[in-house]
Amino acid sequence: MVNGLVQGVGFRPFIYRIAIRHELTGWVQNTNENVKILVTGTSENINQFLISLKEEVPPAAMIEEMIAKEVEPAFFPEFSILGSHNLSDEITEISPDIAVCDDCLEDMGKPGFRLDYAFVNCTNCGPRFTIISDLPYDRSQTTMSSFEMCPDCRREYETVTDRRFHAQPTACNLCGPHYQLYVRDLLISDQIDTITTCISDKIDEGGIVLMKGLGGMHLACDAFNEASVARMRELKDREGKPFAVLFRDIETLEEYAELSEIEKQSLLSWRRPIVLLNKKKKTPSPELAQNLNAGLNLIGVMLPYLPIHHLLFRKLKTQAIVLTSGNFSSEPILIENQVALKDFSPLVDAIVLHNRDIFNRTDDSVVRVIGEKERVFRRSRGYAPAPVRTALNTEGIVAFGAELTNCFCSGKGHKAFLSQHIGDLQNIETALFYESTIARLLKLFRIRPSLLAVDMHPSYVSTRTGSESGDFPLVRVQHHHAHIASCMAENRLDEKVIGIALDGTGYGPDGNIWGSEFLICDLNEFTRELHFEYIPLPGGDLAVEEPWRMAISYLYKVFGREFTEIDIPAIKRMDSEKTGLIIQMIEKKINCPLTSGAGRLFDCVASLLDLVQVASFQAEGPMRLESLVIENCQESYEFTIETALNFDLMIRGIIEDLKQNLENTIIATKFHNTIIQAAWCAAEILRKKQGISKVVLSGGVFQNKYLLEGVINLLEKNKFEVFSHAAIPANDGGIALGQLAVASKRRELKCV
Ligand code: ZN
Ligand code: ZN
Ligand code: FE
Repeated sequence: MVNGLVQGVGFRPFIYRIAIRHELTGWVQNTNENVKILVTGTSENINQFLISLKEEVPPAAMIEEMIAKEVEPAFFPEFSILGSHNLSDEITEISPDIAVCDDCLEDMGKPGFRLDYAFVNCTNCGPRFTIISDLPYDRSQTTMSSFEMCPDCRREYETVTDRRFHAQPTACNLCGPHYQLYVRDLLISDQIDTITTCISDKIDEGGIVLMKGLGGMHLACDAFNEASVARMRELKDREGKPFAVLFRDIETLEEYAELSEIEKQSLLSWRRPIVLLNKKKKTPSPELAQNLNAGLNLIGVMLPYLPIHHLLFRKLKTQAIVLTSGNFSSEPILIENQVALKDFSPLVDAIVLHNRDIFNRTDDSVVRVIGEKERVFRRSRGYAPAPVRTALNTEGIVAFGAELTNCFCSGKGHKAFLSQHIGDLQNIETALFYESTIARLLKLFRIRPSLLAVDMHPSYVSTRTGSESGDFPLVRVQHHHAHIASCMAENRLDEKVIGIALDGTGYGPDGNIWGSEFLICDLNEFTRELHFEYIPLPGGDLAVEEPWRMAISYLYKVFGREFTEIDIPAIKRMDSEKTGLIIQMIEKKINCPLTSGAGRLFDCVASLLDLVQVASFQAEGPMRLESLVIENCQESYEFTIETALNFDLMIRGIIEDLKQNLENTIIATKFHNTIIQAAWCAAEILRKKQGISKVVLSGGVFQNKYLLEGVINLLEKNKFEVFSHAAIPANDGGIALGQLAVASKRRELKCV
């Protein structure tokens, strides 16, 4: 019996091949629980078979558990693949979508029925999660069900030794889905050659094209053309947020971005995520458009993963295109053909659609390599819906997640199924996507809810959805406890730890906005031992978007009203009327909730350095600060820890440095070093008090490479055992897993 990601990834044909090779008879069968194998033969051959089974697994398969036992001898004339069997409510896993494989690319170049066929796939590659509507994974339960296989495809599908044996989405030019090209909602062509010629011309001429892909639509334009990128921003109503870039191939990409071996592996993996890389200082000409990534040195890049990407690059003159989700700002990625034609026809130069429906919407996933490990920031195409193995029993638990960057999570046995990235629930379209996806995934994974978990925030859409989801016991989990629990669940920890959550905002039970929490906690409960000192958030949410407000808040705290006299550019340029107003708000406590959010301190410093006064995308301040960091600067500022972590001395230090005209790069690095030192000092205090030396790191601030590497190194140097996120996002996309872990622990302790 084999458990894990073993369905829809060419596992049974693989078993067949190795069984034949080792002269065994018997059978292999998919059930909705696992894959069962029975072999007969000499013990020597069976041992060899077991070795091959472990060592030669297909690229996208993952064996989680394998149980082998002897059974009553029986006679089988041959080795065969039995039909799928529906055993119970248990399920095996659903494979994420897989980038087109090299063999299929080769088929696309050969004369025959798959010449230039843009939907070519096999058991090693192609669509999976995005087209599956139910289990077990059979063509009839996918959006390929409407396409009848032609005799050639059928023959391959039924030939055990063929690479397309039981490849559910298999198709060809004759029988499968195809693309159509529209210009201004007029159908122009359904011939792939005409289509790719037309859209590559449009892109090379500076146009914008909407293209239906695997998990949704993309907008594409030339990544070297400043004017096209500017037009794309206007179209998407997306002022500054960096765009992802699809490069022709790894060699070209390498000319533009610094690339480590691990980053290369991520880029080339079958998951094909967007990988965040440092742009090279010197790049060939032409240079990538400056307005692609808001002038940051970080750039999100990926490599072709669909057959049509490869077909396009055969014709494109440009080496790279912007490939960004086809949607309007903060709406979910578009999947419906009719909506695409209606909404985008007047806005873009061409629309390329296809007639294979997308059942489960996915975005491109985003990862970054930190500390020589791939860390997932946005978990969607290629990653979802693979489960996380949990130490505790999660059966029937549904966790609803946070508000922004939402993902939800549901439990089955010792597996937690985290949904694909959903997005910002404050957007109505996204909230609808959220609700429908919950219903779909619960059905797909056959989950019967018995316990619900939500954030403590009373007005989160997710909290309301959870509270209104039927008459089940409800667990409310504090946001930062959930962050730490998420990282604990990912690392299978179930004990008392020191938790450091550095984050933007989260609801605190004391009525304040938390966000830099040093906890002693286990999965059940936490005590809040330390945090950054509270600071007024003048204007509430507005202060999150406008870092200058945070600068005033900190300056006022440290220097009082006299700060306006300080002679540094950021302060000199402040509008005295507005400044006066903010000071009044703080003094009279009008619309000034208190926050301990670490992100706000980053915002304040970004404002003092005059990097960002009004953010044009989320976390712009922290990202710009990080992008200034230099190597080989060990200096830091002073800070104090009493009942809370106090950074007044650091603010004074930064002001002094600014007066001395010290370079921003040095100040930004000293600031980062200070936060790293502070995290370590706080951890030391908790270790002394509690005797615990396991530290768990979570929260969006830990997406900062310099900071995460710095904190891990310093803590490890001081003999702490450090745990951080890798497969699960450190940002609010990981919250649901934490909620689920807390709920499951409380159920085990009979606290719910
Ligand atoms: Zn393939
Ligand atoms: Zn066919
Ligand atoms: Fe958070």
